[in-house]
Amino acid sequence: MSTQFNSDLHMHSTASDGGYTPYQLMKKCHDVNLEIIALTDHDTVNGIAEAIEAGNSLGLTVIPGIEFSTKHGGKSVHILGYGIDWKNEKLLTMLAAQREMRRRRLDVMLAKLEQANVPLQAKDVLKHVDGGAIGRPHVAKALIEKGYVSTVAEAFDQYLAEGKPCYVEKEQEMTVEKAISWIHKTGGLAIVAHPVYYNLDSEIVNWVKDGGLDGIEVYHRDHDEQAVAHYETLCKQIEQETGRRLLRTGGSDFHHEDYGRVPEPLGVTRLKNEYAHELLRRLNQ
Ligand SMILES: [Zn+2]
Ligand SMILES: [Zn+2]
Repeated sequence: MSTQFNSDLHMHSTASDGGYTPYQLMKKCHDVNLEIIALTDHDTVNGIAEAIEAGNSLGLTVIPGIEFSTKHGGKSVHILGYGIDWKNEKLLTMLAAQREMRRRRLDVMLAKLEQANVPLQAKDVLKHVDGGAIGRPHVAKALIEKGYVSTVAEAFDQYLAEGKPCYVEKEQEMTVEKAISWIHKTGGLAIVAHPVYYNLDSEIVNWVKDGGLDGIEVYHRDHDEQAVAHYETLCKQIEQETGRRLLRTGGSDFHHEDYGRVPEPLGVTRLKNEYAHELLRRLNQ
């Protein structure tokens, strides 16, 4: 049972920047025989109610999750939260304020797009956003729809990526410590997502020691065997130093078959059930 690879603890729905509604996503999870899954939309819990309802009716174990966008020393760092109280009023208020802030960022971006002769209106972008965070992928979709570019990659290369004419720095980004603290305050466990993207090993050690980080996403679709071995070793090293057991998590980071650095369908990257069971046991303690 526990040797089965039927878990996926990292995926996105239309509540953030995924391509499927929570309902459609749970249906897809069921179709590829996943058993334990977590919905981890960026900076929003708006898809969770639907995912739990749909997932449970299909016999899936659904862990409520979130993926916080944070900044550390100018680098984007994603912190996953599992088992959070997604109805917590303070959490919802904070997330709504963050969305407001991003809406203001969108206005600045729209002004820059106009200057670059690819004008968009807010509604062109917002129609691609389903209750969650507004992000550059939504702007990219609007640019494609208007015929200014033909792919999301082209939209980023020409306009939206850091250093391009329509890039706008995010304001007052959340820190890693703050994200961990929100996750803990709402009863969840905090995991650093896809660490291969940042190369911040010594910081990860500190986030465990000083911030109470609970684990590392050792398994991720963009982690090759070498990366998995590296982060497993890092987990062991931190465990020796701190005497604390770290959680290992993982998942597909699925958004849509056509999205991602190397697009792949749901069900290809799978996590061993024993890691998901350990997470569930820790949440129930
Ligand atoms: Zn991420
Ligand atoms: Zn993700």
